[in-house]
Amino acid sequence: MGSCKEKEESTPMCAWVQEPIIIGAGPSGLAVSACLSEHGIPSVILERSNCIASLWQQRTYDRLKLHLPKRFCALPLLGFPLNFPKYPTKEQFISYMEDYATHFSIKPKFNQNVQSAKFDSSCGYWRVKTLDMEYNSRWLIVATGENAEPIIPEIVGIERFDGRVVHTSEYRSGSYFKNHKVLVIGCGNSGMEISLDLCRHKAVPHLVVRNTVHVLPREMFGISSFGLAMALLKLFPLSVVDKFLLLMSYFTLGNTEKLGLHRPKTGPMEHKNVTGKTPVLDVGALSKIKSGKIKVMVGVKEITTNGAKFMDGQEKEFDSIILATGYKSNVPSWLKGCDFFTKDGMPRTPFPNGWKGENGLYTVGFTRRGLLGTASDANKIAKDIADQWRPSEDWKSISNSQVILLKNCNKNKF
Ligand SMILES: Cc1cc2nc3c(=O)[nH]c(=O)nc-3n(C[C@H](O)[C@H](O)[C@H](O)COP(=O)(O)OP(=O)(O)OC[C@H]3O[C@@H](n4cnc5c(N)ncnc54)[C@H](O)[C@@H]3O)c2cc1C
Repeated sequence: MGSCKEKEESTPMCAWVQEPIIIGAGPSGLAVSACLSEHGIPSVILERSNCIASLWQQRTYDRLKLHLPKRFCALPLLGFPLNFPKYPTKEQFISYMEDYATHFSIKPKFNQNVQSAKFDSSCGYWRVKTLDMEYNSRWLIVATGENAEPIIPEIVGIERFDGRVVHTSEYRSGSYFKNHKVLVIGCGNSGMEISLDLCRHKAVPHLVVRNTVHVLPREMFGISSFGLAMALLKLFPLSVVDKFLLLMSYFTLGNTEKLGLHRPKTGPMEHKNVTGKTPVLDVGALSKIKSGKIKVMVGVKEITTNGAKFMDGQEKEFDSIILATGYKSNVPSWLKGCDFFTKDGMPRTPFPNGWKGENGLYTVGFTRRGLLGTASDANKIAKDIADQWRPSEDWKSISNSQVILLKNCNKNKF
């Protein structure tokens, strides 16, 4: 058994691992690792941050609760504690993730930011590079998420704005913004909820609604709108379910068009299927819009030193700007020589068939269906790898109880 463990100048240490490599220790990475362990298969998880579920721990606002009821957000094999509420808080979700990792003895390798991964056809292994290590395995599972990087749009003049500009990934609570006039750009779930949070901290949010948006009540008849839609879709065509959702929204929320929130031409479920855009589930922002506490603005024309000019000719002063402009996948920046993903970092083949590529490549959590899609992917991947898994006696356990064999790396191949 050769080794390339001696660290050379600018050459990372190299490990050939018998088990699948999972990139990302978010809910999807943990779910697939747990499903693999049910089949007796260990895994190596590489995570760029210093904790599990880093999106939830480090990049979400304090008042966040799961948007969907917990029964739609449970990971495979271990559900939420029974005493958790229907919509667990961010802290509860994180504690569930931590218990999940402990239960399945999942120990990711932290501070391992994957910079490139490429299939080496000469040896049939995926070669995965972080700053200080090269890992090689027959299987590569991409679990880096649909929300890996914040989207920072180009907005004319934003560089000259004197106040604070933050993306929602940096926003924790409205306490900093007390008495501020705040421009919130983007009206998805995050933009709406942060505007509500700003109201509660006595700030004055102005919500920019540039595109059409479907707002639905979070619940109808005491049942979550999402759960109701899922149940109805088993019985009726999509168009009928969409009509029902729109009718119920009209009776519960009123005519949102009058508030400046124009609906897309297609219904909420069809719109999500076609564009991937989730309807906004209202948790109170709409009543603040109705009472004028949250002001709806049309698109921004340009940002000035102390405010913004809008497409309808209005000009207003602001103290701060919050970019609720969403997130994107980062897969194209590190996965090389493979056309399984689009340039936007999503699998070309949509759900339910986007979980498996060629040469031992898998993806989990890229279904545009949140944690429900994660559970479905994780089970399929584990079963597929279990059918191929032939553990070898030759592999030696050398670190973290994971079986790692060190060999000479063919550095020219990567
Ligand atoms: C505010 C907000 C609220 C949400 N609410 C819900 C909800 O109620 N229900 C629901 O189902 N979904 C919800 N979602 C969607 C949610 O993001 C996912 O369901 C869930 O976090 C996806 O898990 P994931 O593991 O696929 O991705 P992530 O949670 O994003 O985890 C991916 C992990 O990969 C790591 N990573 C990324 N790139 C690299 C790299 N190059 N090298 C190493 N590691 C890397 C990241 O650091 C991260 O830890 C919400 C999302 C947001 C932003």
